[in-house]
Amino acid sequence: MTDTLKKFLSEDRSIRVCSVHLESVWQQSVASHNYHTAVQKVLGELLAAATLLASSLKFDGSLLLQIQGTGPIRLLVVECRADMSFRTTVKMSDQAIDDDHQTFKDLINPDGLGRFVVVLKPPEDNPDRQSYQGVIALEGSTIAQVLEFYMLQSEQLETRLWLASNDQQCVGLMLQKMPEYGGVVDKASAEYIESDHWALATHLCETLSQDDLLTLDQDTRLHRLFWQTPVLNLEDTQVTWRCGCSRGRVIGMLQMLGQVEVESICAEQGRVTVSCEFCDTPYEFEPADVAMLFTPTGIDSGTTLH
Ligand SMILES: [Zn+2]
Repeated sequence: MTDTLKKFLSEDRSIRVCSVHLESVWQQSVASHNYHTAVQKVLGELLAAATLLASSLKFDGSLLLQIQGTGPIRLLVVECRADMSFRTTVKMSDQAIDDDHQTFKDLINPDGLGRFVVVLKPPEDNPDRQSYQGVIALEGSTIAQVLEFYMLQSEQLETRLWLASNDQQCVGLMLQKMPEYGGVVDKASAEYIESDHWALATHLCETLSQDDLLTLDQDTRLHRLFWQTPVLNLEDTQVTWRCGCSRGRVIGMLQMLGQVEVESICAEQGRVTVSCEFCDTPYEFEPADVAMLFTPTGIDSGTTLH
């Protein structure tokens, strides 16, 4: 089954397993963008990772993963909401991508100055709640390594990720070691004996090639890895693509920008056009619409117009 996220625990609750396989929603989200193959690959890996991490958090807002680069890719953003809907965007610098720009380091972090930003945004209907933001250096030479490092440093949670992506699909598998169930205290010696399940599970997952990730269907892959492991809490969630932009929000943004600025753009270009940076939907405002934005009885930025 594609566009599905599957989640379970090993029976002894020592390991959380999350798996995701996105096809049509992935194709839908990149359809209007003409991304270079190398760019699409890292974006797909970041998307798979974001859905896996979001599914393991207890929160009702949205998780934003941002990679700020200094190579041809300037910014990668994936936003994944608690209902497992997502949107993505990429911003390129003016550096051209050539055959030398195929690795994560070359594309994003050639000088080691890239940054990884994690934001937890409160739900849209509860904007008074505080956002959380963590910023760290990009440690690692793949998206998986960057996120594994972040989870260990910031969440003290040992996490392993296997990610793969092409123009048709993006796929991810995540193992997390549950700290409270990592082992047992031996009654005779009173020594703490760490469960060997973690070592076995990571060893099994390391046998997965990129080909296995991209060619096997999700159930076959999971069965191959975990058929000997009794599991609990089997749970499937549908992942969807939804931008969430609206004319009302663009109006709010223009009102924040201010009358002088917006009227000057309108005078210069004959109208104001704002394209959504995530889905490319154009929102157009003729001079009469612009005038309405700044009259006291004008259009409310709230919920009336979408
Ligand atoms: Zn949009």
